[in-house]
Amino acid sequence: MQVKLIVGLEIHVQLDTQTKMFCGCKLAFNDPPNSNVCPVCIGMPGVLPTMNKKAYEYAVRTALALNCEVARFTKWDRKGYYYPDLPKNYQISQYDLPLGANGYLEIPLEAGGSKKIRIRRVHLEEDAGKNLHEGMDHSQVDLNRAGTPLMEIVTEPDLSSPQECRILAMELQKLVQFLGVSQANMQMGHMRFEPNINLLIEEAAGRFRTPICEIKNLNSFRALERAVAYEQWRQQEEWQRDHNFTLEKLGKQNRGWDDNRNETVFQREKEEAHDYRYFPEPDLVPVVMDEAWLAQIKAEMGELPQAMKNRFVTLHHLSEYDAGVLTADRETATFSDITIEKSGTPKQVANIITQFGLKIANERGCRVNEIGVSSDQVAKLAQMMEAGTISASAAATLFEKMLTDSRDPQQIAQENNLIQQSDAGALEKVVDEVIAANAPAVAEAKSGGKKSGKARGFLLGQVMQKTRGQANPNIAGELLDAKLKS
Ligand code: ZN
Ligand code: MN
Repeated sequence: MQVKLIVGLEIHVQLDTQTKMFCGCKLAFNDPPNSNVCPVCIGMPGVLPTMNKKAYEYAVRTALALNCEVARFTKWDRKGYYYPDLPKNYQISQYDLPLGANGYLEIPLEAGGSKKIRIRRVHLEEDAGKNLHEGMDHSQVDLNRAGTPLMEIVTEPDLSSPQECRILAMELQKLVQFLGVSQANMQMGHMRFEPNINLLIEEAAGRFRTPICEIKNLNSFRALERAVAYEQWRQQEEWQRDHNFTLEKLGKQNRGWDDNRNETVFQREKEEAHDYRYFPEPDLVPVVMDEAWLAQIKAEMGELPQAMKNRFVTLHHLSEYDAGVLTADRETATFSDITIEKSGTPKQVANIITQFGLKIANERGCRVNEIGVSSDQVAKLAQMMEAGTISASAAATLFEKMLTDSRDPQQIAQENNLIQQSDAGALEKVVDEVIAANAPAVAEAKSGGKKSGKARGFLLGQVMQKTRGQANPNIAGELLDAKLKS
């Protein structure tokens, strides 16, 4: 028996605009309930929505980054719902003409390599409000969230493991953050996932497809991965118990995720498109995307992370790993790019940012451009390391000092005796002293015997000690070798 897991993912992403999708109300988190509302977003009759152009541009920017075809003509549709948190009784969405279609996103696989996940569509819609039930004997409705711009991204059913689902979701988070279109903050509910899951089972008796189950409203990567894994297990169990557990016999269904019990629970038979009574929104004009507007959006988009990463590898000869770390978010990528440009020493810049900068940024929960060290300083430090005027350990100390000192690193290093001694004349004097004071080790090193290497190491160590670690070890080593040969 062969069992194949088939998953398509719907992802809702809250866009990072100042105002709502179809009115001028402020988008804010944690404001008092119902303080950011107006007749449009609370669904009063007779009001007219107007499209938030920024939200539309953000969604197009994302569609372009997902390699989608961008529609030159789209319209809005009403999707009929009845919920207490949706007083209009419909959601404005895009039904048959999404703003983006037929794209893909390449995701890295845990076993190495990558996989292309096709993107079926990208469209825009508005969010509903929030029902509040907790700690009350009644429910309340907060409409602050009603009308928030939501971008919906739908993949083709190309995902074939719970891990792939999580990786795709995390890659999308990185992408929208990089594009600057969403904060994609999970704690604030900026991303929600709805996987559609079923199994293709092949055995002697034939091919079977289990019912497609859509898990609603998952709001963390962990819940997404676990819900898919649970469904994979559950659907196989159900089918083994009863071979009538098929898509043909049972259709589609919606399920919810119970995070405490770690399982999915049946909610309802899945509605079909006709249940929503979609029809064109009569209060909004269609959106016509001309070449000039599209060109402007492309220009504002800048270089994509994948292109930047490739450039770091091919042009600057950084490792795939370093290039990936440096381009993980827009701030780090921009900072790295500028600093490499200024210094001309990509490898040293990569070392400083990955080993010192990101460590501190992670500790402080900020980006590397916010830790108090300028790109000029990092560029200069990289040049000093390249030239050998500062050792790796002294560079770490100097970097610490740069966090609170905005002056030229060369100056800070001099004041703190961190400059590596490369002056052959001064070093030669120290080497002579060490040779004079350690006759037995010198003899051992000169003998060429088994222990000569160890003796040389000891002598070099003495030189480093006498210079308090400031000697350039390469130059000191060369001087020592020359003396030992004579
Ligand atoms: Zn409003
Ligand atoms: Mn939706």
